[in-house]
Amino acid sequence: MAQLSDDCFAFGGPMMSVDEAVGLIATRVNAIADIETVALVEADGRVLARDVAAPLPLPPFTNSAVDGYAVRNADIPQAAERAFALDGRIQAGGLAQAPIRPGHTARIFTGAPMPPDAETVFMQEDVRIDDSGKIVLPSGLKPGANVRPAGEDIPEGHIALRAGQRLRPQHVALAAAFGLVGLDVVRRVRVAVFSTGNELASPGEPRAASQLFDSNRFMLMAMLRRLGCEVSDLGILRDERISLANGLKQVAGSHDLILTTGGVSTGEEDHVKAAVESIGSLVLWRMAIKPGRPVAMGIIDGTPLIGLPGNPVASFVTFVHVVRPTVLALAGALPEPLLPIPVRAAFSYKKKSGRREYVRVSLRRAQDGRLEAVKFPREGAGLLSSLVETDGLVELGESITQVGPGQDVGFLSYADLL
Ligand code: AMP
Ligand code: MG
Repeated sequence: MAQLSDDCFAFGGPMMSVDEAVGLIATRVNAIADIETVALVEADGRVLARDVAAPLPLPPFTNSAVDGYAVRNADIPQAAERAFALDGRIQAGGLAQAPIRPGHTARIFTGAPMPPDAETVFMQEDVRIDDSGKIVLPSGLKPGANVRPAGEDIPEGHIALRAGQRLRPQHVALAAAFGLVGLDVVRRVRVAVFSTGNELASPGEPRAASQLFDSNRFMLMAMLRRLGCEVSDLGILRDERISLANGLKQVAGSHDLILTTGGVSTGEEDHVKAAVESIGSLVLWRMAIKPGRPVAMGIIDGTPLIGLPGNPVASFVTFVHVVRPTVLALAGALPEPLLPIPVRAAFSYKKKSGRREYVRVSLRRAQDGRLEAVKFPREGAGLLSSLVETDGLVELGESITQVGPGQDVGFLSYADLL
């Protein structure tokens, strides 16, 4: 497990910006050192552990980009069209039997290797065949046209994939194009997930009249899995310091991260703080973010703990800004900053300066084709429907104090967050 020092999350100021929090995490969290090899079919979503240098050029050999006729550059007709004798036929997967002779052309198909000495291909649509069966090529084609030189995509030896890359289908495709059967990736980040609260019942269990079903745990586990984590579902811990402390202590040694939800406000019945302090160290990060609540950052036996607020929307938003960068850092992934896309606001909104706010919005296409963000009509940070019925978050930076209809705002799609 990645060991961290007890004071690694210590922070000087009373309030921290989202960027400060993300920056602090990136410098304080150590990446997991364990590497495993996975088959290409299992590689999507994993974090590459080592650079991959191209073991061969791509394409591996010079080939035709079209169906047509190959000639030497010296034979390209200059002033007028010219008839050529046909000599040879090269299909994809085939090889020319001999170099192309001056004044001759070879029939060639897309992806077939160029015959030796041939440098240019005429597209079959631009060519006609005369009565004697000769191939008439037009004048004026650029030397080298319609040919894909070996290595034009990627030269041999080029570092084509970087350590820390979170693999997507196109990265897997590149590894396959190199003929690799597997990739070295960082072991999955192991995360222990607990909900806390006497008011929670697990789905499938009886629910007392004063209880609600635990939804955060399932949301957080799903979010973690999307980030490639191996998740241990540890159920619900009751609001009681000793059992919380025991529960947390037990999993510290076998996980890279402990994630809890609920019980980290400063109320009398918020016991996570006291429980962690009794077995490790804990600081509350007050982030200048809405929706959001203080986030608990702790260390138990060298293992980081993040205590998210219980409110579902606050839990979701703080996950994105604290848990996501932590998981990426643990996985040794290169930072993936969230880049909001400009859309047009179709709402008015006022906010305090000095705090970043996230507005839940749906997108629609306006008459002029631009995308417009429509704000969810209600504000509550406990409304799960506000996450379910919207497409993403509009990010309003610290310096903004108000937004009006027609103004450009930055939009983060839920699909891009994980
Ligand atoms: P807390 O952060 O413990 O003060 O909880 C704040 C609010 O979030 C309370 O209304 C809780 O009932 C609710 N809440 C806490 N944990 C969960 C959970 N796991 N699932 C759904 N709601 C929760
Ligand atoms: Mg609680």
